[in-house]
Amino acid sequence: MGVGDWLRSWPVYRQLTGADPLGRGSAAQSARSRSLVPRTASADRVVHSVCPYCAVGCAQNVYVKDEQVVQIEGNPDSPISRGRLCPKGSASKQLVTGPQRVQKVLYRAPYGTQWQELDLPTAMDMVAERVLDARRKGWQDRDEHGNTLRRTMGLASLGGATLDNEENFLIKKLFTALGAIQIENQARI
Ligand code: SF4
Repeated sequence: MGVGDWLRSWPVYRQLTGADPLGRGSAAQSARSRSLVPRTASADRVVHSVCPYCAVGCAQNVYVKDEQVVQIEGNPDSPISRGRLCPKGSASKQLVTGPQRVQKVLYRAPYGTQWQELDLPTAMDMVAERVLDARRKGWQDRDEHGNTLRRTMGLASLGGATLDNEENFLIKKLFTALGAIQIENQARI
């Protein structure tokens, strides 16, 4: 390295002679920092999504490379969040890609002491059977005066604050169609 290169590698020299007199930008940047490229630059495509954590529903850009999520950032086009994510939303890539995330359906039978893995279609069938069974067992056609009820007391729904408008709409529609009348949300409790 010549004397000139050595001088230019010195941040104070760059600060005094370059376009960054306060030393808070290019003057303080190391060669390694200059060589870094954001993961967003090499993504194959960007998928629009919504942060799953809370009811604010901040919009997210999900960056995908080789069919893997490589980064999640705020979507500046969102009128709700205008590109911002709180620290929790900014960390949602970990929710998607974290090695501790359970990827398989686990089932523990009544009185069982061990979890067993199920394939998703089997688990969905089991859920559907239980819903129909509870609906039937809790069904009330008429009250003691003969008034029409046509409802089930065997089902209730308690939504969480992470549900967005569209999910709440579908949940309300589904449970009302099933005859449930106890449909609540954590946000009202
Ligand atoms: S980024 Fe934060 S404020 Fe926005 S939806 Fe997610 S958790 Fe809520």
